[in-house]
Amino acid sequence: MRHVAIVGSGPAGYYTAETLQKADDIAVDVIDRLPVPYGLIRTGVAPDHQSIKAVSRRYEGTAMADNVRFVGHVSVGTDVAIDELVELYDAVVLATGAPDDRPLGIPGADLPGVIGSAAFVGWYNGHPDFADLNPPLGAAGVAVIGNGNVALDVARILAKTPAEFAGSDIVAHAREQLAASAVRHIHILGRRGPHQIAMTPKELGELGHLDRASPRVDPADLPPEGDDALLEPGMRKSVTHLRSFAANPVAKPVTIDFDFFAMPLAIEGDGHAERIVVERTTLDAELRSHGTGETYTIDAGLVISCIGYQTPPVPGVPYEHGRGRFANDDGRILPGLYCVGWARRGPSGTIGTNKPDGARIAEMVLEDVGRGAGKAGRPGLDVLLASRGVTPVTFADWRRIEAAEVAAALDGNPREKFVSVEAMREVIGR
Ligand code: NAP
Repeated sequence: MRHVAIVGSGPAGYYTAETLQKADDIAVDVIDRLPVPYGLIRTGVAPDHQSIKAVSRRYEGTAMADNVRFVGHVSVGTDVAIDELVELYDAVVLATGAPDDRPLGIPGADLPGVIGSAAFVGWYNGHPDFADLNPPLGAAGVAVIGNGNVALDVARILAKTPAEFAGSDIVAHAREQLAASAVRHIHILGRRGPHQIAMTPKELGELGHLDRASPRVDPADLPPEGDDALLEPGMRKSVTHLRSFAANPVAKPVTIDFDFFAMPLAIEGDGHAERIVVERTTLDAELRSHGTGETYTIDAGLVISCIGYQTPPVPGVPYEHGRGRFANDDGRILPGLYCVGWARRGPSGTIGTNKPDGARIAEMVLEDVGRGAGKAGRPGLDVLLASRGVTPVTFADWRRIEAAEVAAALDGNPREKFVSVEAMREVIGR
């Protein structure tokens, strides 16, 4: 029997389990620190993007296979050490994603009212760590830093009316606080230009169809139209959206301004964020941004930095600081220890990118472990956890939590999520 532990039950974890599970004589444990599975699908993908979230049905199929087990509410590093897992299992795969924000590193970044996207996205998605965030939504201005898809998610969620959340699984606290929000002017700050955005066309196009909000692009920021021919097709489509926003400004009560060539310099305010100072930039031949010395100020009671994520380092596990991921040779970290997904590649790519990634790492693991080394595996973990008084949440437990969430949903919504670990555990009676 081969024993494999996967740490993290998000897309990378379940795609890896999906391939492993098809092999003979294998037992796969998918361990997660939360009592609920699916990682970024549940707490990262925007609540109004239900079609993307639907991929969890596929992971459910894997989770319910006889040789796969969900080991929920077990924290690796606290309840069990990585070294202990490596002792117990033939292979341990870290599929822990990249849950930490890259630091903004400018003066004022630690003021109240300056929030990283991990916290803000976690808040509207009901991640227990961020349920009490209470982002300040009392000022008209908000600055969203970054030109990626997370910046788009954040701006769209801030701009939507309560009615536009119909059919979503945005959590009650976010629904209520956003409904009372005073936010009217959202600025999306990109330190480079329209041809350097990391936004995909579908997501960008959505901004053009909001009830009370309209996107605004300064035509002067756009490169000559002929230059678009040099872009790859997806980027060309995205830039076409920006051109359309610039050409057809629509007056609506909420504005979403694209501030291109705008590098955040400092966040200022009297004890909390009130404004952000921005320096205009130009690009060099390598398309890197450089400050011009010209600055301007945007009123912002809330600043959300969406500048990418990083994997938290784990003591004893080699780490690549510059890239915010585990140091690895194509997925291999140390003998018996692997990584997959964002923990391996860094935080880029869509959910689907993790499918071939997971399959490849699984094949590598199967080749490396051969027929297995007679390790204690699953029963060994159970003995260790029991000795520490830790009772894992099973997949059957999760299905009871899920059923309670579905039962509590508003009409037309898929679920009303529990936002605390205590509430989740209460459903299963322990
Ligand atoms: P991202 O795509 O890497 O974008 C990060 C943005 O932050 C870039 O525009 C980058 O600009 C900017 N940035 C980085 N450091 C900065 C700094 N110090 N100051 C100002 N700007 C800075 O990251 P993301 O938006 O977090 O998305 C992560 C991944 O998830 C991406 O692959 C994304 O496509 C995916 N995602 C997909 C969806 C979807 O498909 N619906 C939704 C959300 C996320 P530079 O280019 O100048 O470095």
